Amino acid sequence: MLGTEARPLRIAIIGAGPAGFYTAEALLKQKDLVCSIDFFNRFPTPFGLVREGVAPDHQSIKAVTRIYDRIAQNPQVRYFGNITFGTDIHHETLKRFYDQIVYAVGAQADRRMGIAGEDLNGSFPATAFVGWYNGHPDYQDMEFDLSHPRAVVIGNGNVAIDVARILVSSPDELAKTDIADTALAKLRESKVREVVMLGRRGPAQAAFTNAEIKELGVLEDVNPIVDSADLELDEHSVIALAEDKVATKNVDTLRSFAARTEHNGTRNIRLRFLVSPMEILGHGGKVTAVTVEKNHLVMDENGGLRARGTGTFETFDAGLVLRSVGYRGVPLEGVPFDEISYKIPNIAGRVIHATSGDPHEGEYVVGWAKRGPTGVIGTNKPDAVSTVVSMMEDRAHLPGIADENRNPALIETILKERKPDYVTYSDWKVLDTHEITRGQKQDRPRVKVTRVPEMLTVINEG
Ligand code: NAP
Repeated sequence: MLGTEARPLRIAIIGAGPAGFYTAEALLKQKDLVCSIDFFNRFPTPFGLVREGVAPDHQSIKAVTRIYDRIAQNPQVRYFGNITFGTDIHHETLKRFYDQIVYAVGAQADRRMGIAGEDLNGSFPATAFVGWYNGHPDYQDMEFDLSHPRAVVIGNGNVAIDVARILVSSPDELAKTDIADTALAKLRESKVREVVMLGRRGPAQAAFTNAEIKELGVLEDVNPIVDSADLELDEHSVIALAEDKVATKNVDTLRSFAARTEHNGTRNIRLRFLVSPMEILGHGGKVTAVTVEKNHLVMDENGGLRARGTGTFETFDAGLVLRSVGYRGVPLEGVPFDEISYKIPNIAGRVIHATSGDPHEGEYVVGWAKRGPTGVIGTNKPDAVSTVVSMMEDRAHLPGIADENRNPALIETILKERKPDYVTYSDWKVLDTHEITRGQKQDRPRVKVTRVPEMLTVINEG
């Protein structure tokens, strides 16, 4: 059987974010399982959205990397960074060397809104802005024009709150974090004084969570502004709220904002509800305003509450629009993909063909690629555990790879040929120490290196 001293289970995990690390943790906890785990990660740097998604002013959330660090240093685990699946290493190669492959690739694109003006200069997915301020190498050449006093953020989730907050936060406060230096410099010059956040449904349907909305009330120099008329709930929302503690607390917080009579800060976050963006307007190819239609809520056939337009419109002048309407998965070479849900189709984490439903033996999925872009970092832990249950059930009957391919050194030989500048975990620790040391000089948790060639230089010189 696979997973014994005679035939140790060889596992590849694609993606070294939270979902990948919780998968490795659950595997390492299996009693009587003899296994070795190899991570393949696109960037030299591990930790996925903890590094590239979690807001820089939420450092405490990043403490979770200590657990991932311990997992990565387990002798059964290896890390191959700077390796892109589908480019540097292919599906067919991994199938030769691993009994089980786990896709932990997250959801790397943004959802489109399908409205006119979405592609004007100045209209961006919030995911790009998040990547930019977090030092994600893909977004370091982005130019966000912060010269207009108003920005509009579309969406009512925690990412919308993150980007709205960063846009109006005091740069001196941000300077104490690990925000990317280029973003910090631009934010210091920012003329944005008001962020209007647009929710298409009402306050009782907002997707953000209690701590995140509450935080807008304690930001230095920032007024959270809500019109109490926006908080008058329809009868269906009143009923729904009675059974939803998170939504009840959100509405309570919003009511406390609406009750404020003094707005002493120099910056505003204005929360608007029941408005759908209809068009992003522009001049000379550049965003100038957003037109919204006011909505009311109607019950759909499933008992859910949907926004329906009332035929009344309003326009907000703005120089920047960040569309924060959710992330979207992207297909991987050789791996099934559901083009409607943007997920890797699966049953209990076992990858299946998108239309026939046939199993892809020995292939698994965890995290956002499995369930869609929902939940907080910790949600990935039980999610990974449930996929590992499937993996352990399967090892009894999986044929596994040929025994002559079981030697862990073989994949290293291939990588050395195809991508000699791949990065090991000890290489990452060199870069990690470099970033932390730079940070200490400025009283910051770290100063990030944001470009891959520079990361490799630091590693080579370390
Ligand atoms: P999300 O929670 O799914 O929120 C998406 C928002 O976009 C919803 O308010 C949704 O409204 C709205 N929306 C969707 N399509 C729209 C359209 N066409 N027009 C207008 N609005 C539209 O997604 P997210 O904010 O990207 O966050 C992803 C996940 O990461 C969430 O689980 C979130 O909690 C988590 N996260 C957590 C933290 C934290 O814990 N601090 C920080 C960031 C992210 P409807 O409800 O009407 O569809």
